[in-house]
Amino acid sequence: MRHVAVIGSGPAGYYTAEALTKQFGGDQVQVDIIDCLPTPYGLIRAGVAPDHQSIKAVYKRYEGTSLSGNVRFVGNVLVGKDVSIDELLEMYNAVVLATGAPHDRPMGIAGDDIPGVIGSAAFVGWYNGHPEFVGLAPPLGIDTAVVVGVGNVALDVARILAKTPAEFDGSDIVGHALDALREHTLKRIVILGRRGPHQIQMTPKELGELGHLQRAAPIVDPADLPPESADAALEPGQRKSVTHLRSFAANHREAEVIVDFDFFARPVRVEGNGHVEQVIVERTALNEKGGAVGTGEEYTIPCGMVVSCIGYRTPPIPGVPYDEDLGRFANDDGRIAMPNGRLYCVGWAKRGPTGTIGTNRPDGFAIAELIAADEAESVAHEGGAALDKLLAERNVRVVSFSDWQGIEAAEIARARAGSPREKFVAIDEMLAAIQP
Ligand code: NAP
Repeated sequence: MRHVAVIGSGPAGYYTAEALTKQFGGDQVQVDIIDCLPTPYGLIRAGVAPDHQSIKAVYKRYEGTSLSGNVRFVGNVLVGKDVSIDELLEMYNAVVLATGAPHDRPMGIAGDDIPGVIGSAAFVGWYNGHPEFVGLAPPLGIDTAVVVGVGNVALDVARILAKTPAEFDGSDIVGHALDALREHTLKRIVILGRRGPHQIQMTPKELGELGHLQRAAPIVDPADLPPESADAALEPGQRKSVTHLRSFAANHREAEVIVDFDFFARPVRVEGNGHVEQVIVERTALNEKGGAVGTGEEYTIPCGMVVSCIGYRTPPIPGVPYDEDLGRFANDDGRIAMPNGRLYCVGWAKRGPTGTIGTNRPDGFAIAELIAADEAESVAHEGGAALDKLLAERNVRVVSFSDWQGIEAAEIARARAGSPREKFVAIDEMLAAIQP
């Protein structure tokens, strides 16, 4: 029997557990998925937008993996505090870091620490009820919000800000966010793209949703669009996205809230006295490599909040090789160089914050193959029994998968009408829900 610890219970962690089971057979490998939260599924619970329930439904597959017999969920255990990587490497044949990229990449411009400048990890965590960001209180009594970046996260943030309360029916947006959004006074959401319409990272289905909102309408300046003939060179998905932008440019409509795409524009500083008052933006142009270069022409966007959606970083773990430039673990195709080997990474912790949820599946299979290939060097390990003993000695309140099912049942029971669940947003509340 092999014992593998997977740190992180998001898609990368669960696909790795599934792949290990297929690689070795369920009776030949025992996988412990360790998570710092009492709740599993990582980004599916705390990242995927609450109004995208069909995407979130993939959790059912992970639930199946958890219930398969050889995979355990070991929740509420913080690696680095409750147990170290070195200790895990002593207990398990292999340790896989599937910790994702939950920290915001900083904008690194003057004024980005003024209250009201918010990273997307925090903003998304707030509306999704991640315990770390419950107290965020974004300033919503404002006219204009600026969203930096033209990726799918920027789209999520803009759409959540633009929707009416009724448009959240059927979603699992947490109560505190719904209440706050109900009160907001926003009239304009500016999406800043430092390059042009052909360089957006927004996928067509998600971008198309912006055209069908009840009180909000997107605006694109036709002057920003390249000649239509240039679209032929785009990959089909990107062409579809650009077609949406063309349609937004051609069909401006009056609306209570305007979602204003501002292309060829990069933020250079945020200004305000104790709170965000304006962003200074520089016009850009594309260089011959397709990168954004400043033109020196600046203008001001008065606004009360800036949400930067410019990508994420994996938090380092002491003692684990880390690539500062790329913001993820230093690795060779998933292998992390450690004195005795056996430490791996998958998903965003391995390759950075790109790709869809499904991209993590082949990652999981690749790492399972690496672990199998490296087996010759391994010796017998005690696995979960040793971890349980250590955590009991340290008085850690471990949350099992059946505990989680208790939390889940309580969240379902307290859901508002039409919503699949009302999440607990504090760890104490989650644990209280499963006290005998
Ligand atoms: P992303 O797709 O990499 O987009 C980041 C955006 O930020 C890009 O437009 C980038 O512009 C811009 N940017 C980066 N640094 C900047 C700076 N210093 N100043 C101004 N702009 C800057 O990242 P993401 O939106 O965080 O998404 C992460 C991954 O999750 C993606 O693979 C995404 O598709 C996925 N996701 C999917 C969904 C879904 O519903 N399907 C939802 C959310 C996220 P440049 O291109 O010029 O660098």
